[in-house]
Parts: sequence; structure tokens; C-alpha cells
Amino acid sequence: MILNALQRSLSYLLGAVILFSTSAGAADERPNILLILADDLGYADVGFNGSSDITTPSLDELANEGVTFSQAYVAHAFCGPSRAGLMTGRYPHKFGSQFNLPDIYMSGGVGVPESEVFVSDVLQDSNYFTGAIGKWHLGETDKYHPNNRGFDEFYGFLNGGHNYFPEDFNRRYDALRAAGRTDIPHYLLPLEHNGQRVRETEYITDALSREAVKFVTDGSKKEQPWFLYLAYNAPHTPLQAKPEDMAKFPHIKDKKRKTYAGMVYALDRGVKRVIDTLKETGQYDNTVVVFLSDNGGKLSQGANNDPLRAGKGSALEGGFRVPMFVHWPGKIKSNSHYKHPVNALDLFPTFASLAEAELPQGLELDGENLWPALQTGESARKGETFFAMRHRGDHSDTAAIRDQWKAVRVGKEPWALYDVAADPAESKDLSEEKPNLLHDLVTDANVWSWTHVQPRWFHIQKEGFLWREESMPRFHETFDLLEGKSY
Ligand code: CA
Repeated sequence: MILNALQRSLSYLLGAVILFSTSAGAADERPNILLILADDLGYADVGFNGSSDITTPSLDELANEGVTFSQAYVAHAFCGPSRAGLMTGRYPHKFGSQFNLPDIYMSGGVGVPESEVFVSDVLQDSNYFTGAIGKWHLGETDKYHPNNRGFDEFYGFLNGGHNYFPEDFNRRYDALRAAGRTDIPHYLLPLEHNGQRVRETEYITDALSREAVKFVTDGSKKEQPWFLYLAYNAPHTPLQAKPEDMAKFPHIKDKKRKTYAGMVYALDRGVKRVIDTLKETGQYDNTVVVFLSDNGGKLSQGANNDPLRAGKGSALEGGFRVPMFVHWPGKIKSNSHYKHPVNALDLFPTFASLAEAELPQGLELDGENLWPALQTGESARKGETFFAMRHRGDHSDTAAIRDQWKAVRVGKEPWALYDVAADPAESKDLSEEKPNLLHDLVTDANVWSWTHVQPRWFHIQKEGFLWREESMPRFHETFDLLEGKSY
């Protein structure tokens, strides 16, 4: 009897070993994907893009070991729509998300429509362990919550920004709550973990880095690969830096710039912690790291976009050309540079391809899979044009880019044409030299504008947020870019 029991145990153990071997033999070798997004980070505010006063040693090391991009663009020149484009792989204008979301107190709850598929949905369906950490800004109510948009894990805040020091925001939150306020500003609300409010105790950038370390550590224990969307709110306003981070920049005298520099440095320190954790857990070689900013730097808040013109919100290069690199040891050639334009819209199809994921039928993405092009160094686009458009009160700033050529119209100025590879500062207008090319690009933009739908919410400076459809300007129906009427 004892022998029988022993035999049974042995056979069970043997079975377990066989099962384990089978499972280890068929180990999932698809890469982990770490997408790090900075918020309002200037083009020239990282060492790898030539910053002369801000040091970013950890980002630079990764950038130098990977591929950097001089012409990386985002889908929109400010936060909410840029993120909507990043997550859906589609222009936010196509699903009514071309403005920043009003907060829930004003809107009652709106978000990126549920009909849109997020890259996280696709990766989760493809058996990735998925996490979002940091700023969301794509909808606050349940149906728009990250946990309902393909993310197994969420730690962060749902609106467009947050104060940085917990001793400050916790105290102010407590005071407003004690006073019975029901519309406490979002920048002061408690952070949350999967829908449960938490009492944060660390400087926000450090808190997000800590959670990212936890996520990749948890991820290392799983059989499946993971996808982490680490969306720092740094260096977005409010400008709040730790004294020790600011002390790294004794040569910067301007207080705003010094504070901004400290915030960027805290992000860089955080990235180092996450990368060190990848190394410690044996995941460094099998993790693709992508870093970029969600839009250009805001010049009035201490950012520097040199040599680009203008900043956040603009259709000029400073608005939506951003610092970016991709890092994957052994798979991406180190010290390489990709000279063709890329767009944040390309990340969805690129990640789906890396994950060998199946895309839902009928899904029409606006980007291109970058992976083959990154291997060959050739352009991922074959003569295709991509666009930027920002609606203002009574006009729309628009840009159309094909290869090195860019047609741009800002305000009610005439269209201009630039070679933005040779002339990133957009200083020499070539529209008179190449009228046919300009006409061609503007025609593309015009055709593209007819794919837009009315904004689902709308913001203008004077009147605040509006979100009822009947109060929307009719943005695309009167569109005639060639005639110079752009709204
Ligand atoms: Ca932003």
C-alpha cells in the first residue's frame, strides 16, 4: 500500500516534470514591450537630442544603445488627442476625440468611444499581461477606465495631470473634502489602483517608477510576456521638482527652467530603476523599450524645442515633433539613427506585429508597422502623407508631411512648404519653388479632413468646455483647405 502510494506520488511528480518541461520548451518568446511616455517634454530637453543644460544619463544610455529618431511625430500637438491616437492607432479626429477631455464635473462622463480598439485590447487578447501606469486622460467613468480598455493593471490618475508632492495634495484634498466640496480639482484627487483610491506618499514621478518596478517584477514571474504603458506626467505642469533633483543643475539660473530640469531628471532616475529591474530579473534582453513625448514642449513652462519653431499645440514642428528612441539589445542596432519620418500612430501596428497578434477584422489603422523598416533603414511609408490638425476658435492649423516635405498653414496665414529634414526650423518657405508639391500635399490634407467626425466634446478658451453636439462648430463640413477656408 505504501509502495502504491509512493508509486502514485512518483508518477504524479514525473507527470508534473514532463508537463513543466513541455511548457518550458514551448516558452512564450515574444518580447515584453515597455512604452514610456513623457508629457510635454521638449525636443531639445534630453541629452540624446543635444540638450546643453539638462542631463538625462539613463535615457541617453538607452538611446545610444538603440535607434534614435530625428523626425518622430505624434498624432496631435497636445495631450488628450495625442494619447487617443497612440492607444487606438488612429487619428483622434476620426472618432471625435480631437480636444482634451472636459473633467467629469462638467461633462458627466465622456471618453474615447467604446467602438475604438486600443492596442492594449489587442495585446491582452494575444495573452500579454498588460499595465498602464500614470496619466490616463481618455475617460474617467467605468466604461472608459483603463481596466476596461485592455489593461489588467492600472495605477495612476484618470485626468490630464496631477500635483507632485503628496504632502501638498493630500492636505489640500482633505481640507476641501472636510469643507464638503464635491468638485475637488483633479490635480489633488487621490491616485488609484484598479479603481481603488490609494493614499500616495511619494513624489508622483517616484511613485510611478516604483509601480513600474513592481509591474515588471510581477511580469517576470509570469509565463506570458507583458506590455507596460508607463505614462509619466512629468514634466507637465504644475512645475514641482524635488530640491535634490534641482540641485543637479547649479548652472541653470532661471527658476522655471531649473524646476523643469529637476522634473525631467526625476523621470530619468525612474527609468533607470525600471531598466535595472529588467536586468535584475533577466528580462533586459527580451524587452523592447520605446520612449517618446506626447507632444512638444511648452515654451512658457520652461521647455526647449530647439531648433524647432513654436511648441505644444502648434502645427509647426515644435508642437508635434518629439524626442524618441527604440531600444532592444541584439535586435536594434546600437548607435543607429532612423532618418525617415515616423508617427506615434505607427506604434499600434508595430507592437501588434511584435506580439504576433491578430488584429480585429475591419480595423483600419492609420500607422505603419515600423519593424521591417527599422531593420533596413528604409522608409516605412511609400509616398504616404500624414497629418496634424489643431482646431482653434475660428480656424484650424494644419500640417501635411510626406517624406521630408511639409505643407503647413498656421492661423490665417497662407500655406507654406518646407523641407523639414534639411530645415527643421521651418525657415525657408519653398511654396513658390514647388507649387505642385504644395498643392498635392494640401489636397491630401483636404481628403483626409473628410474622414473626420464632429468632436464629441469641445473646448474653447473663453467659454470653457462644451460637449453637446448641437453646440459644436461644424469642423469638417465647410472644410476647403485649397480655398484657404479651414473651418
Ligand atoms: Ca502633453
